[in-house]
Amino acid sequence: MTPHALTATIDLGAIAHNVDVLRTAAGADVLAVVKADAYGHGAVPVARAALGAGAAELGVAHITEALALRRAGVDAHLTAWLHAPDADFVSAIEHDIDIAVSSTRQLDSVVAAAERLSQPATVTVKVDTGLNRSGVAADEWPDFSEVLGKARAGGAVAVRAIMCHLARGDEPEHPLNSEQARRLDDAAADLRRLGAGPEVTHIANSPAALTRPDLARDLVRPGIALYGRSPIPERGDFGLVPAMTLTAQVALVKKLAAGQGVSYGHTFVAQHDTMIAVLPAGYADGVPRLLSGRFQVAINGRLFPGIGRVCMDQLVIDLGPDGGGVREGDVAELFGTGRTGGPTAGDWADAIGTIDYEIVSGIGSRAVRRYVGDVDE
Ligand SMILES: *Cc1c(COP(=O)(O)O)cnc(C)c1O
Repeated sequence: MTPHALTATIDLGAIAHNVDVLRTAAGADVLAVVKADAYGHGAVPVARAALGAGAAELGVAHITEALALRRAGVDAHLTAWLHAPDADFVSAIEHDIDIAVSSTRQLDSVVAAAERLSQPATVTVKVDTGLNRSGVAADEWPDFSEVLGKARAGGAVAVRAIMCHLARGDEPEHPLNSEQARRLDDAAADLRRLGAGPEVTHIANSPAALTRPDLARDLVRPGIALYGRSPIPERGDFGLVPAMTLTAQVALVKKLAAGQGVSYGHTFVAQHDTMIAVLPAGYADGVPRLLSGRFQVAINGRLFPGIGRVCMDQLVIDLGPDGGGVREGDVAELFGTGRTGGPTAGDWADAIGTIDYEIVSGIGSRAVRRYVGDVDE
């Protein structure tokens, strides 16, 4: 099935399906968030699949991520929203990347780059409406909006969009969500008064896109739901289909005698004679070391527990005294859709007290990405 020791199989049909689920739930177009290599799924194939399924635009954090998409021939509208002071705004303008600005200082740098090129920059105004992370802060807003109005009048920038990011989107009824939306709408009205009105507005991340259609403006901006992971697991799966399945080939099967310890520190000691298998997946691949002894893998439809410490490159599972019929070369599913009872990225996250965002985006480059379900195939 999979020719590689460690494979992350990405179902592009699931990505397409999830775009559809999000559009329908939000009643708005989708700006597909493909930052961090599309949460570990592969930015270029995911971007193409999402656009093919009707996503209107793309978003990433760094300009370098946007440039990589452009180099791969992705020409959709593309916004980048996180910039260190030495960010390459010149290249961003040259490659028609929408630059989301979070401060007057950033805006000044973008204007300087536009003037150097004699070419207007397309900008999105990122407003801090309460997350207190990126975005133009409230106390800076009067100054910022004035500078933006002037830059717009002088032809250095075209104001494409206004956006903010929710602090508590995964608590749909929390009053802060509506409050953040109100603050953003007010900011958009300010810009219109200054002749720098944005063409489009977007607020909603995955949980808000799925549960608060009233907060969808022109676009919603989902990430995790695009990859099929529920942003509010206690409310169900929303009909999303997980796109990533992580599998490893069984590298070795051997006997373990009662009383023997397994892996560093011998944290697992066999109570009885058993059979064990070694899988070529470790914490360098994104299997958290904290998961040691707290996960199962599925092989040929059966679940087997992980035992002992997860190492950098490998981990060990207990096949039981009869070996479970497992042979070297068999494929072990570390996580997948969960539809046939196998483990999920959510199980890993729950076991170690994190979120599945961290699990899927942490799967390393040694796992060979394999793409299936492409509608163009
Ligand atoms: C990552 C990110 C998103 C997507 O968030 P999800 O919770 O994955 O839907 C949207 N907007 C911004 C600004 C982000 O940084």
